[in-house]
Order: sequence, then structure tokens, then C-alpha cells
Amino acid sequence: VNSIMHIGFDDTDSLRMGCTTYIAALLVEKLEKVGLKFIDYPNLVRLNPNIPWKTRGNGAICLRVSGDAPALDEARELVLDQVERWSDLDFPGTDPGVVFFCGTEPPIEFREFAKRTLRDVVTKGEALRLVRRFRAEAIGFKGGRGVIGGLAAIGETLSEDHTYELLTYRRPENRGKDRKVDVKSVSRMERETSPFTFSNIDPETGRVLITPRGPDPVLYGVRGESAQVVRAAMGMIDVGEDVERWVIFRTNHGTDAHLRPVRSISEVKAYRPVIVRGDVTEKPWTGIGGHVYFAIHDSSGKVNCAAYEPTGSFRSVVKDLIEGDSVEVYGGVRPPSSKHSMTVNLEKIRILGLAPQVTYQNPRCSVCGRSMKSMGRGKGFRCERCKIKRRSPDRIPILFPRVVSTGLYIPPPRAHRHLTKPMVRYGQEKTGCPKGMIDGWHSP
Ligand SMILES: [Zn+2]
Repeated sequence: VNSIMHIGFDDTDSLRMGCTTYIAALLVEKLEKVGLKFIDYPNLVRLNPNIPWKTRGNGAICLRVSGDAPALDEARELVLDQVERWSDLDFPGTDPGVVFFCGTEPPIEFREFAKRTLRDVVTKGEALRLVRRFRAEAIGFKGGRGVIGGLAAIGETLSEDHTYELLTYRRPENRGKDRKVDVKSVSRMERETSPFTFSNIDPETGRVLITPRGPDPVLYGVRGESAQVVRAAMGMIDVGEDVERWVIFRTNHGTDAHLRPVRSISEVKAYRPVIVRGDVTEKPWTGIGGHVYFAIHDSSGKVNCAAYEPTGSFRSVVKDLIEGDSVEVYGGVRPPSSKHSMTVNLEKIRILGLAPQVTYQNPRCSVCGRSMKSMGRGKGFRCERCKIKRRSPDRIPILFPRVVSTGLYIPPPRAHRHLTKPMVRYGQEKTGCPKGMIDGWHSP
């Protein structure tokens, strides 16, 4: 008799080495070898990117497999063995956790926990209580904080909007060496697969975004709307080295799943990524390092917003805002510190309404058309050439056309978080899990 097991794990990587997805890719091969069948692509679930103790990308994995009892027992051993072997256990912040849950569908409580792990701050205690209540099993290494992400990955079934990422891995002898991925081939792939792949190349800088930097075992990753398109994209990319293995993951990348709309500024809380509306209180200003700051308010309160230097041209949109503009801001929320009050770090902005931009000029002479000179405060104006006077002390309001227009603005892809929904994805949102899987979604 076959049953279904969900295997969640997280927090295996560190800044130095390792990669949770690589453990997943190794396990895909090993679990199929012991006779298990995958009922979904491996799920790669990005969690709240704004909590201070996150690992590098804060990505957790869930493998969902079907098989008989002996094969599932063997799977448990294999998973624990691989997590132990490949985790950077000597690294202070790395606290891997593994969760196993047997059952067709994860309980609704796991799904709710997953949503909170994306948008809020949760504790290991909450995760362990759910594990006990629903007879799951949790195994933590060191501090075991990874149990949180492991449980969340099981609960996040990606039944709402989702995307795919095909990840390729380098052979051990190449890790740490420069990547030789051919830029022209990536451009060609982008042209042929757009808009069904995204964030391949940054249009402003021409920078290739599919390759990570440093000793990461990932050679490149292609993000897209279907397993078919990322598979086809792989065939178009010239890499200049042998690929050790590749796997297609189903993910919440590029979905904005972390952002939660709130009704008023008083509901904006630290570490809870948010979408909130307000009116700009003063003209934005540029601070040290080229970051642009402004504040918005509504009847409930006021909050600061920041567009950081890496958001590039996005800052010029923000700089064009003026007092009274109505906006909707999207982003993570940094807690107040001694230097800053609570700040929304902008991931995008929607300009809803523009205030009139008025400046005042001296009146023009009715005879020669030149600008008149003031005769002193409250004393009116005089044309120096024609000597014509004008008694009214009021300057003339001039309505300036606004440079910026209403609409949605998103920084260039190089500044995106994994979860940020890029412009090209608007209108391509999906609902429901895929009905089946393509042949050949991994190798070996
Ligand atoms: Zn004149």
C-alpha cells in the first residue's frame, strides 16, 4: 500500500557554502532510486525576507513523495543523512531542521502557519506544537531553527500563484571557479522565451542575473511560468562546462506572496512586509549613499519610506514625488533604531494621484512682456524698462506639468528579492496546482 510523505527542510546553508536546493537535487536522485515517486516538483519556498536572523536566501524545501512503508523509512534515513552531510554545521548561524509528515494533504493549520512564516514572525515553539498535534516528526540539528522553515514548506502547497525555476549545479572541481555562461546565449534565450521567463538579464546594466556569485554550487537558474519553458530555456544556454545535475523546482519566486495589504498606516509593523496607502508629507530627499527618503501619512499616522541606492532608476521616480501625492507603497518594514524611525524599504510603488505642482512668479509687464521687479514686500511690482507699476502684491501661480505619471513602478530586476513580482509577470498569475509533471524534470 502506497502512502504520501511530505519532507520539509530548511536552514542548511550559510554565507560560506552549501545550498539547501543542492541537498534537494541530490535527494531527488536518491529517493527515486529507492522506488519513491514524486507527486509534485520539489517545492522551493521563500519565506519572510525581512526577519533579521534569516539565512542567505531564506529558501525552504518540500519534497512530496509516494511509496510503500519500507521505501518511506529508507527516505527518512537518506534525508537525515544528506542534511547532516551537506549542511554547514560549523557555521554559527546554520541550524538545520527536517520535518516529515505523512498524509495526502497537509492540514489547514500547516497552511496557515506557512502564510504567517512568509508575512510575519513565528517561533520554533509554535512549529513544534503543530508537529506534535498532527503527529508529524521534527528533527533539529544544533538549534534546530530550520524546523520552522521545514514545516512552512510542507504547509505552503503553492496552490495560488507560483512559478518554476530550473537550477543547474556545477561539478565539484569547478566550484569556486569563474562561471563561463555565455552572455549572448542568455540574451538569445531571453528573446525567445520572454515573457514566459523572467529576471534573466538586467535591462539597465546588461548584467546576467541567472548566475549567482561565489562558491555556490549553483551554475545558473532560469525562472519561468511553466516547467516546459524553463526546460526549453536550458537548451539555449551555453555554459562552457559540464553540469553535474539539474532539477526543476516549483516556487513562490516572483509572486509577491510576502506582501500583505493593510488598511491604515497604524497597522504597519516591523518585520511584516506590507502594502499600504498614504499621502506624501514632504518632498523626498537624498541621503548619504544615494538613498532616497520620504514619508507618507494618513489619518492614523505616519511612516517613513526609503528607496535604496541599488534600486537605480527607480529612485528618480521617487524623487519626483511632491507633498500631497497619493501613493501605495510595497515593501519590508525595518524596525525603528536610534538613527531612523520605522521605515518601509520600497520594493515597488504605485502612484495613485498627483498633487498640482505650483510655483509663483513675478507678474509680467503688460506692455513689453518682461518679468516685473518687486518694489519691496507687499508694495507691488514695477517694470524697470517701461516704468509701469502694478499695485497688487500677489505673485502669479504657475502650474508646472509633473514629470512622473500615475501607475506602478518597480525597480530594475537586479534589485529584486526572490519574492518580488516583476512587471513582466503581471497578468500571468496562476491559481491551482499543476495537474501533472513533465517527463524529464531532472537529471540524473
Ligand atoms: Zn515693460
